[in-house]
Amino acid sequence: PELFGQGRRNSMGFDLHDVTELERIAKVRSRPEPFRVEPIIAGEVKSGEVEKAINPATGEAIGEVVTASEADVETALSAAKAWDARVDERADILRKASDLFERDFGEIFALLGTEAGKGLPDAVAELREAVDFLRYYANEAEKLSEPARGLFTCISPWNFPLAIFTGQVAAALATGNGVLAKPAEATPAIAAWAVRRLHEAGVPKTALQLLPGAGSVVGAALTSDPRIKGVAFTGSTATARRIQRAIADNLEPGTPLIAETGGLNAMIVDSTALPEQAVRDIVASSFQSAGQRCSALRCLYVQEDIAKTMREMIVGAMNELTLGDPWDLSTDVGPVITRAAQADISGHVDAAKKKGKLIHRVEAPTTGSYVAPALIEVSGIKDLEREVFGPVLHMATFKAKDLDKVIDQVNATGYGLTFGLHTRIDDRVQSMADKVKAGNIYANRNQIGAIVGSQPFGGEGLSGTGPKAGGPNYLTRFTRRAVSSHGE
Ligand code: GLU
Repeated sequence: PELFGQGRRNSMGFDLHDVTELERIAKVRSRPEPFRVEPIIAGEVKSGEVEKAINPATGEAIGEVVTASEADVETALSAAKAWDARVDERADILRKASDLFERDFGEIFALLGTEAGKGLPDAVAELREAVDFLRYYANEAEKLSEPARGLFTCISPWNFPLAIFTGQVAAALATGNGVLAKPAEATPAIAAWAVRRLHEAGVPKTALQLLPGAGSVVGAALTSDPRIKGVAFTGSTATARRIQRAIADNLEPGTPLIAETGGLNAMIVDSTALPEQAVRDIVASSFQSAGQRCSALRCLYVQEDIAKTMREMIVGAMNELTLGDPWDLSTDVGPVITRAAQADISGHVDAAKKKGKLIHRVEAPTTGSYVAPALIEVSGIKDLEREVFGPVLHMATFKAKDLDKVIDQVNATGYGLTFGLHTRIDDRVQSMADKVKAGNIYANRNQIGAIVGSQPFGGEGLSGTGPKAGGPNYLTRFTRRAVSSHGE
């Protein structure tokens, strides 16, 4: 169990039932110092635009972000070096960083709450995952002998601003690369927190630099400079395509792009399922983290015999959801990341309402960027058109004889990230898993929250290149070992 960090779950000394500890965290969080984030580069910062950081739960400014200019990207690139240390030394430093992440948990919980709108359970899970990535990749790297590629660009999303940021960076560092990291525009302070602890643990300043800023400036520069020998990216499928083109036009042939992108994830519930269990898992898969996970359930198919009951039960469960301050322990659904995201998701729900397809929508707070969880009727997954990244569930029904057609429809989206399945017909679990094209298939449980080391995470088709994050083959693409781009 040590290997995946699970045996050390309590080693950060944090226990949700420990009231003193909770009060301590609540204090850190209620009086956060306004922060100022700057590029962290091995050289002088010359930039740049200064932007306000906004708390999505309140709409209030919580700090300032100095973005990197093109001159800063150049300074960072000319100072950048691969990490020239023995693999066991690198692994020890990453393990030390994981201990520092745990040591400073109060600070990062506060930042995850204020900068990313994460509630305490999500913040705990995210720190846990970041720590697991550091330890898992440190351990895995010690099994490899292939040399590093050189300099890696890591471009990470705001929805797991600590875990995915740390996972990409840890993988590139564990294998001896130098890293230029561009955090999501909405969450640079969380990334800066991680970088400071990695430096404190002993990662050289030239091997890890942070360049907050826009994709069009920093991202574009870091994916088209020939000094870059590999790119790790998590974000939208459209951006992944742009990066792929930039790499093809400017970088060495064969430069790897390790991309984890969007999904249009389905769940099938047949009439043998246990409704109470299915409803609990549907609600968690759709609305936890305000639906802002690429693994989240977007389109539910329920066999028509039980559709009426299931629909009533889902509506009932939605009415029980508490929306509010993400740090109130009774809150189930916090805000979405920005006002722009709120407008986009609400627009989708309003359009469905106009067409008479809105089954149910609950009430949302009016401050901050909240979106009320919604349930929309569709004839099938093809009605979705795109991934709407928020607490919106679409529901279709199917007849028993059409089960294979439903699977064909799901596969026809071209995405293939997660898939959920509720049935008590044992043979059906395997036969569906054989037919569905998806990276992670979950039977009789929710379809979010893959665990590093035991549930490698990643998709097929439009959902990503593989290899899966948190799995045994992920690191190979960060080295010079020749492998195909896909793989478990
Ligand atoms: N790994 C996360 C999960 O299993 C999803 C990651 C993402 O949303 O990018 O829920």
